[in-house]
Amino acid sequence: MALKIYLNGKFIDKDEAKISIFDHGFLYGDGVFEGIRSYDYLVFQLKGHINRLYKSAEGIELKIPMTKEEMEEVVISTLKINKLKDAYIRLIVTRGIGDLGLDPYKCEEPSVFIIADKISLYPGEFYEKGLRIIVAKTERNSNRALPPTIKSLNYLNNILAKIEATKSGVEEALMLNSEGYVCECTGDNIFMVKNKKLITPSIKAGALEGITRDTVIEIARSKGIEVEKKLLKLDELFEADESFLTGTAAEIIPVIEIDHHIIRDGKPGDITKEFISEFRKLTKVKGVRYAL
Ligand code: PMP
Repeated sequence: MALKIYLNGKFIDKDEAKISIFDHGFLYGDGVFEGIRSYDYLVFQLKGHINRLYKSAEGIELKIPMTKEEMEEVVISTLKINKLKDAYIRLIVTRGIGDLGLDPYKCEEPSVFIIADKISLYPGEFYEKGLRIIVAKTERNSNRALPPTIKSLNYLNNILAKIEATKSGVEEALMLNSEGYVCECTGDNIFMVKNKKLITPSIKAGALEGITRDTVIEIARSKGIEVEKKLLKLDELFEADESFLTGTAAEIIPVIEIDHHIIRDGKPGDITKEFISEFRKLTKVKGVRYAL
C-alpha cells in the first residue's frame, strides 16, 4: 500500500501528494514544522510538539486553519491510515500559495501536510560508541535575526553547518553564536556533565527549546541531578566529563569527541547511559496513545 500523506484535509497517495511551486514554503522557506515520534502506538510528547508548532506559527503571524485538537486528531489519523506503530512524523504548515513577491499577506491559505513514515536513526554503533562532532565555522543565526522559538522551514543556516560536518567525515556539527557561546548542533541540542551536574546552553544563546532537551531536564530533576542552563564557553565544554546530544530523531546520543578534543576517556559516560535508559522508559508513557 502506498504511503498516505495528509494534505489540506485529505489523505493522498505519496506520489500524488503535491503542492504548488508558488507556495511560499517552497519559494521562501516561509512556514513552520515539527518532527514527532511515535513509539509502540504512543505519540511521544504530542501536546508539547503541537504547542510548539502553534507558537512557531504565531511567531511568524501565520494562522493555522485548524484548532490544536483537530491537529492532534489528524496526526493520529495519519498514523492509523498508514498502520504505523513506530514512526517519524513530519508536520508542516506553510504560508500557502502567493505571488513571486515576499509579501505573506498576499498568500491565500496556509497549506498543512503531515508525512508519517518509518523512522531511520543514526546507526546503532553511535549509541554504543558515541559520536565525533566538529565545531562549525558557520555561526548560528542570531536570535535577533530569527528567534529560535520559531521552528521554521528555513534551515539553510543549519544546512551550511551540516555540509561542514559531512565534509569533515562526521555526523554532526556544533554551532556557536556570534558571541562565541555554544549554541546547539544542526538538528540537536547539546548537554555536558561536569562533576555530576548537567549543563546545557540557555535558550538565549540562540538554541531551539527542544522537547527532548526539556524531557532530559525533567529526568534530571526527578533524579535530584542539578541542572544549569547558562551561556557556555567552548573551553568549558572541552573539559566535560560527559557530553550528549538530544533530539526527537536522535533521542539521546553520546558525544565522545569535539573538534579532536576527546571527552574524558573517549567513551560514553555512565550518567549519559542512565539518561538514555530513563528516556526510553518515558517513551512508553509520555504522550497520546492510539490504536489501529
Ligand atoms: N535544535 C534544532 C536546530 C533542531 O532542528 C532540533 C530537532 N528538530 C532540535 C534542536 C531538537 O529538538 P527536539 O528535541 O524538539 O526534536
